[in-house]
Amino acid sequence: LTLRSEHAGTVPAVTVLAGPTAVGKGTVSQYIRHHYPQVWLSVSATTRPPRPGELDGVHYSFVSHEQFDELIDQGKMLEWAEVHGLNKYGTRRDTVESAIEQGQHVLLEIDLQGARQVRQTMPEATFVFLAPPSWEELVRRLIGRGTESATEQHRRLETAKLELAAEPEFDAVIVNDTVGQAAAKLVDVMQLPAAQ
Ligand code: 5GP
Repeated sequence: LTLRSEHAGTVPAVTVLAGPTAVGKGTVSQYIRHHYPQVWLSVSATTRPPRPGELDGVHYSFVSHEQFDELIDQGKMLEWAEVHGLNKYGTRRDTVESAIEQGQHVLLEIDLQGARQVRQTMPEATFVFLAPPSWEELVRRLIGRGTESATEQHRRLETAKLELAAEPEFDAVIVNDTVGQAAAKLVDVMQLPAAQ
């Protein structure tokens, strides 16, 4: 695995993980949270309701549309986006900045629009694209997850086509064959010390 950009050889503070719907960004991020305690995984705010098993403050900070708009108006968002045309998702600036100040390795799991915003404000970050083994496998994962209606699945797959085309914008591409392998490759790109 080689880094495409000028970042090779330096230890970046912030790594952005993006990629299409259902590719497994959330699974890889949660795996990293459990197995690599030296990574600080940012908890996004979202207006989307929790899925079964999702915990407030762990997987997301679940907020109302009014609360989210207030965070935007107060300039508290490092980046935010309306994803799949329905809900807003965003990263709070203050938590990321204090993690960086504490010398932590920050991982942001966000969508393509958010990644492009961070590219503007934090060009020194490392941008990693998580890709599916194939289009058919991506469709299989989305349908297999069974958390979205057919209409919503269709909408997400339309977005996924556009997102897959953005792969060349990224510093590194990791194919998510299995979660453990993908996580190990991501940690490799982050140039972290070995797990404690
Ligand atoms: P889901 O609803 O499946 O949890 O997430 C939908 C999409 O929102 C995923 O592509 C995920 O990466 C993205 N997302 C999650 N958190 C953030 C965030 O803080 N900012 C942005 N821009 N996208 C996010």
